[in-house]
Amino acid sequence: MKTGADTFHVATTLHGAVAALADRGHAGAPLAGATWIMRAPLRGGPQQDRSYVALSRIDELRRVEIGERDITIGACVTHAALASALAHIDGCAALVQAAASSANPAVRQVATIGGNLCAWDFASADLVPALICLAANVELTSPDGVERISMERFLARRSELAPGTLLSRIVVARTACGSAHVRLPLRRSGDYPVAIVSLAVKLGQNSTVLTARAAVGSVEVVARRWETLEAGLVGRPLDPQAAAALAGRCLDDFVARDGVEAAGWYRLAVLPSLVRRAAQALLPHS
Ligand SMILES: Cc1cc2nc3c(=O)[nH]c(=O)nc-3n(C[C@H](O)[C@H](O)[C@H](O)COP(=O)(O)OP(=O)(O)OC[C@H]3O[C@@H](n4cnc5c(N)ncnc54)[C@H](O)[C@@H]3O)c2cc1C
Repeated sequence: MKTGADTFHVATTLHGAVAALADRGHAGAPLAGATWIMRAPLRGGPQQDRSYVALSRIDELRRVEIGERDITIGACVTHAALASALAHIDGCAALVQAAASSANPAVRQVATIGGNLCAWDFASADLVPALICLAANVELTSPDGVERISMERFLARRSELAPGTLLSRIVVARTACGSAHVRLPLRRSGDYPVAIVSLAVKLGQNSTVLTARAAVGSVEVVARRWETLEAGLVGRPLDPQAAAALAGRCLDDFVARDGVEAAGWYRLAVLPSLVRRAAQALLPHS
């Protein structure tokens, strides 16, 4: 059993955190809001005996920078701070709704966007499908430098990041798309969602869909795009009932997971109504 500085180091700079993690090798683990890590023993996870490097005092990772083209979000921005910073920014509704509806108010004050994306064994993470539908990129910082990759590449790699590699920032391009995030918790609003649909569309005249990007979370082990749904939406007026019917015809695209909150068949069965609600939210004046 390790003690004191071996088990807990508080970093105050990004480069200090990277160096401390690289020193610790595979024994080291980043600690952000700790809302996922603290439940590792309950999940039978490996993390209780790690040497933690705390990230929450790194000011540069707690900023949201809203530029003309991009929004850059530090990995330690909390769900609550994110929802507040982007509340009035066009195109970000999916991310705002994801951040504002996950968990409960107390957890949202400490849980971070970086922790949400890096909890690789968590299928129901709200921010993941929201960021996929917004075509976000993530920035990784390691002793070798900084690398920017798509969400999809990050999700494929995140369980095997080399020691000393941190998710440092998330970059979302500002677009003319509208977006929505719809989730189904089973009992209370803060419960883990059994299924999530995040949808971003650009609408033309008569609400014709010019571009669409959809992502589904909590149904499979890792959230991913729903490309057949996207293809079926483009070129037609956005119609919530028709979108739900289309979703119902494309359910074979997923191999749904069984879990304690819901069986796989149920996660699939609710997708059409989540698509209908997302489409409804994206219609002008809805
Ligand atoms: C009661 C409760 C309800 C919840 N409900 C929801 C919900 O409805 N929706 C939802 O999405 N989530 C939910 N969560 C899950 C989750 O805890 C949060 O979503 C949160 O975002 C995790 O962030 P954190 O900062 O606490 O991460 P931590 O617990 O600190 O870390 C999580 C993992 O990510 C790693 N990590 C953290 N930051 C970085 C980084 N910058 N770079 C590399 N690795 C990093 C850690 O080493 C760890 O493996 C809930 C949690 C609780 C306790």
